[in-house]
This record gives sequence, structure tokens and C-alpha cells, in this order.
Amino acid sequence: MQVPFLDLVTPHVELEEEILGVVRSALRSGRFIGGPEVEGFEKEFAEFCRTEHAVAVSSGTDALRFALMAAGVKQGDIVVTVPNTFIATTEAITQSGAVPAFVDIDEQTYNIDPGKLREYLQSGHRVDAVVPVHLYGQMADMDPILDLADQYGFTVIEDACQAHGAEYFSRTQNAWFKAGSMGRAAAFSFYPGKNLGACGEGGAVTTNDPALAQKIRMLRDHGQSRKYYHDIEGYNGRLDAIQCGLLRIKLRHLGEWNEKRRRAAARYGELLGSIPGVVVPLEPEWSRAVHHLYVIRVGDRDGLQSNLAAEGISAALHYPVPLHKQNAYATAGFGDFPVTEKVASEILSLPMFPQLGAAAQQRVAEVIARSLCSCHATADRLAPGFPQHI
Ligand SMILES: *Cc1c(COP(=O)(O)O)cnc(C)c1O
Repeated sequence: MQVPFLDLVTPHVELEEEILGVVRSALRSGRFIGGPEVEGFEKEFAEFCRTEHAVAVSSGTDALRFALMAAGVKQGDIVVTVPNTFIATTEAITQSGAVPAFVDIDEQTYNIDPGKLREYLQSGHRVDAVVPVHLYGQMADMDPILDLADQYGFTVIEDACQAHGAEYFSRTQNAWFKAGSMGRAAAFSFYPGKNLGACGEGGAVTTNDPALAQKIRMLRDHGQSRKYYHDIEGYNGRLDAIQCGLLRIKLRHLGEWNEKRRRAAARYGELLGSIPGVVVPLEPEWSRAVHHLYVIRVGDRDGLQSNLAAEGISAALHYPVPLHKQNAYATAGFGDFPVTEKVASEILSLPMFPQLGAAAQQRVAEVIARSLCSCHATADRLAPGFPQHI
């Protein structure tokens, strides 16, 4: 049995007629840029995220860069994020004129460790903004981050590119919040493999601040307040009408797809949770994750990945090289981030998508159990201090 890492064909085949309808009406109206599909999608995506505004842009990277710029991040500012993320997070920071800095992650949630952020601030470092990344579809622990933001006066911009629909229970506000509704603004990506994916590139910024939304509308469209009247220099960062139309169709299924991912994650938890040497993802009681990725940790990660591959099961690494170890940052002098480094050598992303069936998951679990059993005899192959049972 082959088990792919994700399935980008089935959902599109299922929705093919509706999708073709969007393309057909664009061809017949000639409305390719702006217009009702773009506005309709923005309104519906804002509703989904429970925010006042959503602004569609050309990618998640642009969404994050525009959000930072519109929130006032400028040349020379310091923006803190984590080294355990996709490079787009730091690219957006650098391209907004700011300088990225890192705080290490929590070993159980793989997201920013608020205690380490506090220490970082207490030791006198300047911080103008923080970008918590809701990695793998689970929100970062926002309460302490927002408390620190109040105390130290920095801006919080969420990187929600992997977390469409994830929820967080705020103990301070005694309410559940959707990803993208807690910071000053948030960035989403509609890269095809994301929980909500375009048939191409796309992204969005969500915010409750009308002035910030307006600024992003200008930034994405050459800084014009009306056609050919440019108040600032901007970018070509629009999302086209066809992609917005397709995203409207897919958005109607996102809740159900996320629910299927949650069910698949629960099944993995049952199948894998009792295998010694496997650490399954932790979902704290304040979190409802949408499992963009299902990431386990094992001692002999590379061995397991190749055993899975030999059985036709695709697994992947998110991410194999932490950002502070990337060649692009060879001279940046970010420092050492031991939790990120340890985790990066043990993580493995298993097949995860809404259509993933129970039989396929059973198969994945069997291969993992067999693979770990055969290396179990040599327990020293597990990383030192590696939890045997979790
Ligand atoms: C996908 C992703 C991005 C960038 O989104 P693009 O649409 O590919 O530009 C940024 N941050 C994270 C965490 C992502 O996963």
C-alpha cells in the first residue's frame, strides 16, 4: 500500500465543476483583477477567522511582510521569531527593513517558549515586534505573549500560514479565539498544500484594525489610494479574481477538512501513542489544532524515514535545518538554540490530509512499530535523554 504525504488531486476533482464555473465566469466577464470574487472572499475569510478585515494578497510571505510594514515595523527594528519555522518568516522580517532575532521553542508544543521570550526581554534586549508562528497548525501560547506585549510595548503579528481555523483558549479573556484574530494582524498562506490552498499562490492578512487593513490594500497595489494616485511606493502583491473565486469554494469545506484532520490526528495518537520511542504531538487543553502537519519525534529519525520510504510511505521534514543554521544566515550570528536543534534531528512529518484513510494510518503505524522494534535492541541509538514513553 502506497501512502502519499498529501493529496492535492482528490479535493480538486471533487470540486472540479464548481472550480471550472469560476474560471468560466472570469473568462466571460474579463474580471481578472479585483472585483466581487476578491471582495467576497475577503469578507468570507474574515468571517471564518472572526476578524473585522481580511485583505487578499499574492502569498503568505507578502502577507507577513505587508502586515509588519503596515503595523509600523521599519528600518532597523528588531523582530523576534523562532528558528523552527519556514524561511519566509524571516524573509518577511528582513524585507520589511527590520532585523530578525530568535527565541527558542518549547520542546512540547514546538512553538515559541513564552518563558524564554520573557527572559530575553528581561535581559534588556530591544524588541519592536514579535512574530509567533502557529507551527504545524497549533497556535502558539498567546496569553503570555500578549501580556508581555502590553508590558514591553511591542507589536504582535501572527504567522498563521499553517493554522487556518486553529483555535486558542485565552485564560485571561475566558474565550476561544481563532488563529489570526489575536495579534495586531496575522498572515495566512494559500500555498496549495496548506489547509486552505489556492490552485496556485495566494495569501491574506487578517486584522481588526481598519486603518491597518487600508494600508495593506495600498501596499499590495502600488501604494495607490485610487488609480494612478500613489500616496506611497507599494508592491504588486494582489491576489487575482480566479484564485479568490476558487478559495471561496474551498473555504466552504475548510471546517469539515480541518475536522477530518483532527480525526486523523486522534487516530494516529491511538495507534502510535503506545509505541515506545515515539513522541506524538501534544495538544494542550487551551489548543484546538488543525494539524497542517502531523509531526512525531523518534531517536533514529533518518532510519525510520527510509524504512517508511521502502514501504511506499512518504514522510517529510519540517524543517531539516533550523533557520540559524541555514547558509543564508551563516554570518548573521543568531546564537544557539538547543531545543530547536535537538528537535530538528528527531522530527518526522507523517502523511496528513483530510482524505487520509484509517487503513493507510494503520499501515503507517505498523511500519513504524516494526521499524522501531528492530532498532530497539540497540537502545543507545535513541538520542540521550530521549523520552521512552509519552
Ligand atoms: C507557507 C508558509 C509561509 C509562506 O507562505 P507562502 O504563501 O509560501 O509565501 C510563511 N510561514 C510559514 C510558517 C509557512 O508555513
